[in-house]
Amino acid sequence: MNIAILSQKSSLYSTRRLSEAAKKRGHSVRVIDTLRCYMNITSENPGIHYKGEDLRGFEAVIPRVGASITFYGAAVVRQFEMMGVFSVNESVAISRSRDKLRSLQLLSRAGVGLPTTGFAHSPDDVQDLIKMVGGAPLVIKLLEGTQGIGVVLAETKKAAESVIEAFFGLKANIMVQEYIKESGGADIRCFVIGGKVVASMKRQAPEGEFRSNLHRGGSATLIKITPQERAAAVKAAQIMGLNVAGVDILRSNRGALVMEVNSSPGLEGIESTTGKDIAAMIIEFIEKNAKPHRTRTRGKG
Ligand code: ADP
Ligand code: MG
Repeated sequence: MNIAILSQKSSLYSTRRLSEAAKKRGHSVRVIDTLRCYMNITSENPGIHYKGEDLRGFEAVIPRVGASITFYGAAVVRQFEMMGVFSVNESVAISRSRDKLRSLQLLSRAGVGLPTTGFAHSPDDVQDLIKMVGGAPLVIKLLEGTQGIGVVLAETKKAAESVIEAFFGLKANIMVQEYIKESGGADIRCFVIGGKVVASMKRQAPEGEFRSNLHRGGSATLIKITPQERAAAVKAAQIMGLNVAGVDILRSNRGALVMEVNSSPGLEGIESTTGKDIAAMIIEFIEKNAKPHRTRTRGKG
């Protein structure tokens, strides 16, 4: 098959591994810099140009769209879809998953366990907002943050008020969330491909930190997940309409709570922790599922 990987850099671990895995399985593969794609939007013959070249002939595309370029990246993926190219994750699902609040609303509608989360616009409502999620300590998150940046733990009501007011003052969109203390600075990353959890790892925040992101110095170990956790991860990916997803779960006193669903989950941590060839599994998924015009909206909202 002819496969394109949409990525800003071919030297990134995940991009490199996907490329290797595709070649190893006999495919021809090319890394395309998302931001260098430009589009011809016509009803008869939609196309993508790339550094002066007319991009044609791909059967599948693997989007690795960074959070900072979600808007443009989703448009490029959509253009590939319009050309009939199968996308591992469809553009609508990528955009949907990048908005944390929208994601949580969709998951809650489907009955997936979530930390209690509040969202408000006016500084006048801060007091009740804090009460709504059970008071301090609580977590405040920028809606479009990633890699732990923009996630703050406010230990007291006073701290929470100040931080929320400061964010409001900056016109930032934030959500306020119940702090799951009993998870002990750990979360579980479930890697889902085609409706199955194919690998999982526990990520533990370093001493004195509550964010377990590997980019924030978290460390990953193997973990056996419960059937409930597995079911929650599979359901979350399905609701978001993602074929490939990293579903992050907090272990709470009331069971598995889904914290977020990532549409371009990194391969480095999960492959080195589990020793599994996740890249090959993604390529295999493409082999089984890629057909012209096969990408379609499966999630809702
Ligand atoms: P990002 O998209 O920046 O990774 P997350 O929502 O995943 O933001 O939060 C980053 C980290 O902070 C999580 O991996 C988790 O370790 C911790 N965390 C986030 N929300 C909570 C919460 N409600 N309770 C406890 N820990 C949390
Ligand atoms: Mg996260």
